Amino acid sequence: MEILETLYREIVGFFSFSGLIEIIQTDNYKALLTQDGIGKALAPLIPVLLVIELIRAFFFQRLSFTQYKIAFFTYIFNRVISRFISIGMVGICIGLFEPYAIFKSEFTWYWFIYGYVVWEFAHFVYHYLGHKVRLFWCLHSTHHASESMNLSITYAHFFLEGPYADIIRTTICILMGVNPPLLFLIMFVDGTWGAFIHIGENLMKDARLGFLNKIILTPSHHRVHHARNPLYMDTNFCNLLNIWDKVFGTLQDEKHEEKIEYGITRPMKSGDFWDAYFGEIILLAKDVYHAPTLKDKVLYIFMPPGWHHSGEHKTASVVKKEYFATQKP
Ligand SMILES: [Zn+2]
Ligand SMILES: [Zn+2]
Repeated sequence: MEILETLYREIVGFFSFSGLIEIIQTDNYKALLTQDGIGKALAPLIPVLLVIELIRAFFFQRLSFTQYKIAFFTYIFNRVISRFISIGMVGICIGLFEPYAIFKSEFTWYWFIYGYVVWEFAHFVYHYLGHKVRLFWCLHSTHHASESMNLSITYAHFFLEGPYADIIRTTICILMGVNPPLLFLIMFVDGTWGAFIHIGENLMKDARLGFLNKIILTPSHHRVHHARNPLYMDTNFCNLLNIWDKVFGTLQDEKHEEKIEYGITRPMKSGDFWDAYFGEIILLAKDVYHAPTLKDKVLYIFMPPGWHHSGEHKTASVVKKEYFATQKP
């Protein structure tokens, strides 16, 4: 019976049903009018959509387990590990940096807009470094390893990526005066949208969302971000607002003539969890080990993926430059 209970707890946990169940059991429907209550009510949305996506794919006989395998095992792996390390990075950063905030904001709609712009900037910083610093790419690459797009990718992260992202994002926001309740609301909106943009082509073929594609980051933009095509590599680092991609020139729309190829550029063992989770770390360790000088060893850790001590770089910028050179008339 204990197994059944554990299974029940895992299912309720995966679907994030517990908050909603609590509201129903206590008849406390007024809670649905509070931010906390709305959060509890919306929490099951992405897991439920994921299951609909799986059932649809199964029904139309398009379900191939390899598309979901990496994310599935990553989810299980993270569940097991996160039981043992529950790092309250957000709490630690708030406690450490709140006294140094440049000013104090309040819980109002205009501060929300300010906070969101700052949050997107902080997200851009974390995400950009995740692609441009080899050490951080080791943490982020798990999320890019899948060769298809579906909602399960939302859960596919190396277990240390969360704390790393939260240190950068929370620190920047708190120092820039975003107050903690506002930060939590922004994190909730960002988390929900950040999950939705991984919606699969099974559920939504064209994900440009009409005119919204011009003003925000749509699932179509995030599909482009997950692509390994030279044109699409290292673009669309934002999550909901596209301002910082516009400012830094990294915004890229999906082009009809350039079909998205999902995944990372190195050859991978297709659908292999261990390769997706630890592959980049092993490759970095090998490069550091074989680097001829101490300086090269350090550079391997901090230069972009593809950097080589011989000068024969295969970084995204080099690949893109070569690609654009061939495109010129
Ligand atoms: Zn990324
Ligand atoms: Zn993603």
